[in-house]
Amino acid sequence: MKFETKCLHSGYAPKNGEPRVVPIVQSTTYRFDSCDHVADLFDKPTEYIYSRFANPTCDAVEKKLADMEGGVGAMLTSSGQAASLLSILNLCSAGDSFIASASIYGGTINLFGFTLKKLGIECIWVDVDASYDEILKSFKPNTKAVFGETIANPALTVFDIEKWAKAAHEKHVPLIVDNTFATPYLCRPFEFGADIVVHSTTKYLDGHAVQGGGAIVDSGNFDWVAANKATGYFEDLVKPDPSYHGLEYVKEFGKAAYIIKARTQLMRDFGCYPAAHSAFLLNMGIETLPIRMERYCKNALQVAEFFQRHDKIAKVRYPMLGGDKYYENAKKYLPLGASGVITVSIKGGRKAAMRFMDSLKLASDEVHVADIRTCVLHPASATHRQLTDEQLVAAGIDGGMVRFSCGLENVDDIICDIKQALEKV
Ligand SMILES: *Cc1c(COP(=O)(O)O)cnc(C)c1O
Repeated sequence: MKFETKCLHSGYAPKNGEPRVVPIVQSTTYRFDSCDHVADLFDKPTEYIYSRFANPTCDAVEKKLADMEGGVGAMLTSSGQAASLLSILNLCSAGDSFIASASIYGGTINLFGFTLKKLGIECIWVDVDASYDEILKSFKPNTKAVFGETIANPALTVFDIEKWAKAAHEKHVPLIVDNTFATPYLCRPFEFGADIVVHSTTKYLDGHAVQGGGAIVDSGNFDWVAANKATGYFEDLVKPDPSYHGLEYVKEFGKAAYIIKARTQLMRDFGCYPAAHSAFLLNMGIETLPIRMERYCKNALQVAEFFQRHDKIAKVRYPMLGGDKYYENAKKYLPLGASGVITVSIKGGRKAAMRFMDSLKLASDEVHVADIRTCVLHPASATHRQLTDEQLVAAGIDGGMVRFSCGLENVDDIICDIKQALEKV
């Protein structure tokens, strides 16, 4: 199946007389005829036992997402934050470190830099534009994963997946990519060597701002046994699991070892799973993802070009604009477009930006991005409010910067709204 077809048909194939649409199995539990049957399922989880482990509605969406990314398996989580957290905890424990590109989502920066540090896991920050050798040099003897973001929120840097994957593999560790802004419609990181993908499905995959969620997808390509032989890392994947009476993930599940371990150990213990109803809504979003992404990208390019021509604009960042620092990376990794998100700096700084935003009538000021409706956010006074002016500069944010997330309205209406708001600045 081609991508658009997978978005509609993967993960659920009703038999004769069954519901056409993925049913919402809003049940925490399942009924069995015998104790022996339940005991067998605790040895080998091949059927639904309890919805914290697996649920039929979630399962259908997990299979679809895995298919869309080109992976062997996926696990839905209750948020994007939970997906990022578990993607690392599945590889690192206290005393380990991992590398992350410094240009990633602010919530992930807090999670990696502060909360994981409290758990004894160190994040080594590396510049997103670091050379291959610089990346290699930043590894420590206990570094067990590398993490980056395809299109970073809100910096809009475009991650050079191939370079980072090569460096990670030279050191026998997997590359994890947060593919939230690109979605598998614009970029499939596995095709460039990434091993694991995470998503905040709250954004474009859902698209309609109706439920938060996340996902981890496993490519199945990382060779845990070879890496373990070379480094001694990843014992948890290749040796018997004492918390699961000796289950050996690679031996038992082969290519799906990582994602099944994430489910049987981490989802079992942390319990951050989505409701079946949320998975149902996510599935509805995914069904129209391809046509929505196409339009987001088309609208955003036109809006970015409008901003570029306007004399009250100091700077526009959109990776598909010719001359953008990440244009070459965008052409390689995002040939169909760079999502609906633009960052724009209004001349006159903080006051001018806030005046512009308060004057918008169609676009609304929201702590959200990647919605079906156009929305804006002022990072300096909202998400990055705690930073000093110097810290803001270091994070690539200035007081005049607005994160502009183009929706699916007619682009003439979006531009008309921007025009009248800029007149008030
Ligand atoms: C929003 C976001 C997250 C966090 O997702 P939640 O669903 O809000 O927990 C992670 N990564 C990126 C790139 C995001 O935009």
